[in-house]
Amino acid sequence: MDDNQLIRTLNSVGKSSFVRYLKLCEDESLSNTEIADQIEEESGYTRNSCLSRTSHLRSILRAGLRNKALEIIIESSVRERIKRLAKALLNESENDEVFFLPHEQFEMSASEKDKYLAAFQMPTVINITTRTSSITNAFINSIIPVITPSINDIREALAILALEPESLLCAYCGDPSTEWDHLRAIVKDKRPTGYISEIRNLVPACGKCNQSKGNKEWSIWIVGDAPQAPKQRGIQDLEARMQRLHKYEEWGDVKPLNLEELIGEDLWEQHWKHWDTILRHMNEAQSTAVEVRQRVLDRLSSKSTDD
Ligand SMILES: [Zn+2]
Repeated sequence: MDDNQLIRTLNSVGKSSFVRYLKLCEDESLSNTEIADQIEEESGYTRNSCLSRTSHLRSILRAGLRNKALEIIIESSVRERIKRLAKALLNESENDEVFFLPHEQFEMSASEKDKYLAAFQMPTVINITTRTSSITNAFINSIIPVITPSINDIREALAILALEPESLLCAYCGDPSTEWDHLRAIVKDKRPTGYISEIRNLVPACGKCNQSKGNKEWSIWIVGDAPQAPKQRGIQDLEARMQRLHKYEEWGDVKPLNLEELIGEDLWEQHWKHWDTILRHMNEAQSTAVEVRQRVLDRLSSKSTDD
């Protein structure tokens, strides 16, 4: 993307939209459609316009021209408030550059300076929007019911997996078990799969297996090449383990629930609307936070010039 293309693309986004929705578009956990949804609700632009702004904005990000676009905005004739936001966003990405209050500085050689700069480590700038994915996880996981098993269920589960209650081992690899893992994933593509937390969908697992498996299908993952997957770690009795896990699956015979149908459309929509509202407020709050931070910096530097 050359300079002219950048300016054209930036105009397609709109300078004020670029500043307003930059953080949203930088959130890689969001798809273009999800972002356009949020912009549509907030701005009232048409659906197509929101989608086009989103994809143009992201093409600037992909070209690595985020800061250049912000510089263009700062030098253009946009409103002061937009300029201030653009400055704050620019400033944020340069947090490895140490901010010096313009007090007296000692003369020193370049290598001396490097030594001091290397000794100092700038704390990371905190963004409200970096909490987006944990909020989303909470919204998904908070609606998944947890059903306490009967003692008989636990006994039967352990018998199928050939495990003893006093020395619980990972059903996938045989290491000591540290948790019970969902055999069938309860979350996929940021939506509940319809499987819930019940013993027929849970097996004892070690942390290594649990993390390596993620929301993959167990029977593919276990012999696959994911890092730390049992096959990769050379687990010896894998065949026997898989047979037991298949038996466990049959015992469970768990089918995914259609949660939406089960509870009714209204309540379902209400839940996801809350989610949407919170994310939107977080984005707005983030813009305000950036502005506050920038204002403090401005005040500090004008104060020390006054002194
Ligand atoms: Zn394991």
